[in-house]
Amino acid sequence: MIIVLDRLIREDQKTALISFLEDKGFKVREIIGEEETILGAVGSISLDPRVIEVKPGVIRVIPITKAYKLASRELKKGDTIINSGGIRIGGPRISVIAGPCAVESREQIMEAALAVRDSGAIALRGGAYKPRTSPYSFQGLGEEGLKYLREAGDKYGLLVTTEIVSSETADMMTDYVDIFQIGARNMQNFELLKKVGSLGKPVVVKRGLSATIEEWLMAAEYLMAHGTEDVILCERGIRTFETYTRNTLDLSAIPVVKKLSHLPVIVDPSHATGLRGKVLPMALAAVAAGADGLMVEVHPHPDQALSDGPQSLYPEQFEKLMRDIEALCPVIGKDLELIPADRRSTIQLKTTALTKDASEITVSFQGEHGAFSEKALNRYFEGEKTTAKGCSGFRDVFRDVVTGTADYGIIPIENSLAGSIHENYDLLIQHPDIQIIGEKMLRVQHSLIGFPDTDIESITRVYSHPQGLAQCAKFLDRHENMEKVPYYDTAGSVAYVARDKDTTKAAIANADAAGYYGLSVLKEGIETNPNNYTRFFVIARSGQHAQPEEGTKASFIFSLPSKPGTLFECIRIFAEEKLNMTKMESRPIIGKPWKYMFYVDVEVPKGEISSLRKGIERLSSETEDFRTLGIYTQR
Ligand code: PEP
Ligand code: MN
Repeated sequence: MIIVLDRLIREDQKTALISFLEDKGFKVREIIGEEETILGAVGSISLDPRVIEVKPGVIRVIPITKAYKLASRELKKGDTIINSGGIRIGGPRISVIAGPCAVESREQIMEAALAVRDSGAIALRGGAYKPRTSPYSFQGLGEEGLKYLREAGDKYGLLVTTEIVSSETADMMTDYVDIFQIGARNMQNFELLKKVGSLGKPVVVKRGLSATIEEWLMAAEYLMAHGTEDVILCERGIRTFETYTRNTLDLSAIPVVKKLSHLPVIVDPSHATGLRGKVLPMALAAVAAGADGLMVEVHPHPDQALSDGPQSLYPEQFEKLMRDIEALCPVIGKDLELIPADRRSTIQLKTTALTKDASEITVSFQGEHGAFSEKALNRYFEGEKTTAKGCSGFRDVFRDVVTGTADYGIIPIENSLAGSIHENYDLLIQHPDIQIIGEKMLRVQHSLIGFPDTDIESITRVYSHPQGLAQCAKFLDRHENMEKVPYYDTAGSVAYVARDKDTTKAAIANADAAGYYGLSVLKEGIETNPNNYTRFFVIARSGQHAQPEEGTKASFIFSLPSKPGTLFECIRIFAEEKLNMTKMESRPIIGKPWKYMFYVDVEVPKGEISSLRKGIERLSSETEDFRTLGIYTQR
């Protein structure tokens, strides 16, 4: 039951109440929340709630309706955040545990620890006692394995987690382990749960192969009822009729459990799918679905693994996964929980050549084939037959659209790190015959591109646009042998390296560019900051498109009469018409020193196109040279 206490309850009244409940055989836990303080009292005896309600300092008594009490959100409304040695699991963060299925040797676990730490894991996993289906399979190194695991964890600052299969080893294991793991097969081994719970350390409890969510939460309840408060629930796939994947990952369990329980929920996509190629998509899906973290099997040499090799990621696959999670985090409003890590630097990946179809529409972009702008247009016009026409400058893109040489153009307008691309703002202002018809946002990921099978260490000159070089500064600093050579264009630098046929030269550009020129991606994701996005506008000739009836965004330009309060009046219109202003920029008007053109983006509330129209009408009478650049939707 939940006993809600009066804010003014005296300490002696509280102590008396707790003693009373404990004498009756209840386990009592005090939970101090933001709004109220409660006592959670859990026990097998039933007591008339009125007996407690009449005690001094008690406001009310609420029975917990669920079979699980301590694990229930009824008892604790806020999320449980587990803190082990300053590393946290739960709350607004994603925490990733990674490592091999089993500890196989000192060298293997050391190598794995370094790899997963460098990619951003917070804890190292590795079984020392393996509950294998066959008695003839590798059973684990036992205490020797625990020693190696601890040594690797300590060396790289990682927490360590490992499975416990028998109460007999529990006390010995506490010296080695930060987080105990209860395996799926032992989820209902109640004697083991009681023993592990009593150790008071954090415990990951995996969902049983055929356990319902309620049974799984009851396993957590067992652990909590016997002493630990720090339980992490781990969804690892359940057994269904489907046999293509090892198990069926029950992603919907995540939001279900998050609602029922305050405990953190993590997902093990490795045991869930049993196939390494399926781990990355399911891991991202789990994070998107609200998981608090992941447990992923990573092996330095999966083909030599003594257990679960086919589902173990290669270290470079894990690195890619971590970068994708980092990019996903701002989208879901969480941060990746990290311990400081130097990033690894030697990965060789290859891309296949891109082939393009003949087409119906022509879209001009600035740059050579493989440029980020081309990638953006391919994504924007996905499913349509397009010819991408490279131009040497942004002005040429505008000219192509105005003259009808191209149906559309695509221009970058803003980068999340480098800011606005002023040339394109100015070109929009100078072209009254152009309108914006769409917007595309693209994550900028840079790759080191060179000749197939080139050792990164043998590269001495790296070519790219100065922005590309600047955005990969950390990687380049780590490779002192690489001379940075500025080039006019990222994709152009790839074309140059391909033409030059010198294997000591490489370029920095988007990975797609490699395939256009018969080169390979030598290292993917080398940008210093993975939160690197560029916003593009798709432009067309005015009148070529009817102004859309609906849109989620609109852009305007205007200048203002030179008198006090004119800008203020415009901003008032945005406020009154409920148009959320997402961007404002001012640009000098050529030929009119110290006069400016204002450029504004607004979000159009859903179904409120009429307030946009009204806003436009009001703005045009308050401003000079008012022009709607476009009403459009982001794709
Ligand atoms: C493991 O994590 O190595 C393991 C055996 O997992 P599960 O208990 O989920 O099968
Ligand atoms: Mn395993």
